[in-house]
Amino acid sequence: RALLLAVSAIASGVIAQDSAGVPKEKHDYQSDVARLRKIVINSLYSHRDVFLRELISNANDALEKLRLTSLTDKEVLSGAEDLNVTIKAYTDEDGNGRIIIRDTGIGMTPEELTANLGTLAKSGTTEFLARAESTDTTGTGNLIGAFGLGFYSSFLVANRVYVASLAAKSAHNPEPVQYVFSSGADESSFEIYSDPRGSTLGRGTEITLVLKPDAVEYTNPHKITELVDKHSSFSSAFPIYLYTQR
Ligand code: ADP
Ligand code: MG
Repeated sequence: RALLLAVSAIASGVIAQDSAGVPKEKHDYQSDVARLRKIVINSLYSHRDVFLRELISNANDALEKLRLTSLTDKEVLSGAEDLNVTIKAYTDEDGNGRIIIRDTGIGMTPEELTANLGTLAKSGTTEFLARAESTDTTGTGNLIGAFGLGFYSSFLVANRVYVASLAAKSAHNPEPVQYVFSSGADESSFEIYSDPRGSTLGRGTEITLVLKPDAVEYTNPHKITELVDKHSSFSSAFPIYLYTQR
């Protein structure tokens, strides 16, 4: 399912920890998001494996959206022909583990990054929150299976998360620009800024997780392969490529 490829030069072109000098828009999370993130970060330690399933399922959703849109509007395919997911896992120059999950799906505009990652539009989440807050940690574990935790499960393993995205080209959006959403696990706000690297993605979304020191095990290719195989239900029509450090 996941293809294993060894590469040595992963660290080039990765998102920079320090993007000083780039003008940034700061947004506070909607209060429900703050509550959900707190639950995720504080009480779901023993379920943190789910982050990979959630991120790959989001990548698949984005690819499926692109595929469906392309049936009526071929232009959305420009920028990147192949529909796939790539996962890169390595240790950065500062010694932090990093996982980068990239898809060539529909992508997000800066407004969509803010709305989709900074607010909870999902009807089911309110119920999840109510039940999670009135239950103990073991009970919360069962709720995850039922509801999924989505994007916020990234913060189970990451101190900082960057989401760079370049929306598909379309009649409404003829000249998309690559933007970054960035947030720390301990922050009640997130930043949105134009990617200082430029529009490097071609199209789609790249999620960079700067792993917590106790989560470095997730850079191990065997661990990633195990998790991908474990949740094989998300092995969709789109290939997943895994790149690791030599
Ligand atoms: P859900 O997938 O249940 O909607 P998530 O928390 O997993 O909830 O994701 C929230 C939203 O963020 C998604 O509905 C989607 O609009 C957007 N999103 C997340 N990941 C991606 C991605 N890789 N590409 C495009 N949009 C994404
Ligand atoms: Mg999801």
